[in-house]
Amino acid sequence: MDYNYHTHTYRCGHANGSDEEYILRAIDGGIKHMGFSDHAPFMFPDGYEIDCHMQMADAKGYFESINALRKKYADKIDIAIGFEMEYMPSHFDKMLENVKNIGAEYLILGQHYIADGYPDAIGSGSIKESEERFFTYVDSVCSGIESGVFSYLAHPDMAKFTGSDEIYRAGMKRICQCSLENNIPVEINFLGIRDGRFYPNPRFWEIAKEVGCPVTFGLDAHTPKDAYDGDSLKVAEWFVRKYKLNYIGKPDIISIQ
Ligand SMILES: [Zn+2]
Ligand SMILES: [Zn+2]
Repeated sequence: MDYNYHTHTYRCGHANGSDEEYILRAIDGGIKHMGFSDHAPFMFPDGYEIDCHMQMADAKGYFESINALRKKYADKIDIAIGFEMEYMPSHFDKMLENVKNIGAEYLILGQHYIADGYPDAIGSGSIKESEERFFTYVDSVCSGIESGVFSYLAHPDMAKFTGSDEIYRAGMKRICQCSLENNIPVEINFLGIRDGRFYPNPRFWEIAKEVGCPVTFGLDAHTPKDAYDGDSLKVAEWFVRKYKLNYIGKPDIISIQ
């Protein structure tokens, strides 16, 4: 694995280390193509900013720091600067305009909330048995994929739906088909592996296998040592073999500039 487009920084408030430490660790692990994708800043119309995302006031420093480092290490590693962002239906046009204006080169889709994320924030991890919430997640993700601006879908299986298999299959099949039709890969998320979370969820990857949608890997580093992760890589490769996934390797990065 010589690529990783899922890297956070301390600016989101729940990651640590310096930007340079992430880069040094990635170079050490043999990463040649790296992307910073911190949680995208956005100011809602009433001035509110989600506190587990980067704040607008820190965006300038993010680009300055990583731009300087990419020059410094240009002979060792390719670095792209972007964001991980939700598809929030009521705000999406403004969110996109905002990240383009502040200089983002690419985006990955990380749907941590089922819809608008504010003021009625419902986490994708707390869908529970609600079919309505689950399908809201599915709709948001599919709209995000269809927008054509996201290079891939991070942790597609982050939706924690505890209802029937039949409903889960129907929703996730739509996401996998959307991924296949738009040629936007879904990610096996290494943070989920590392932390023993409920994703990667076998229930999801069984469906991805049937649909044959493109699959990529993402380290989701929130601390420098995770900017390479050989142990989780073995598990991710096991998923690819076990479910005979359509693993494409490095994703094609869609430029939004
Ligand atoms: Zn995070
Ligand atoms: Zn995420």
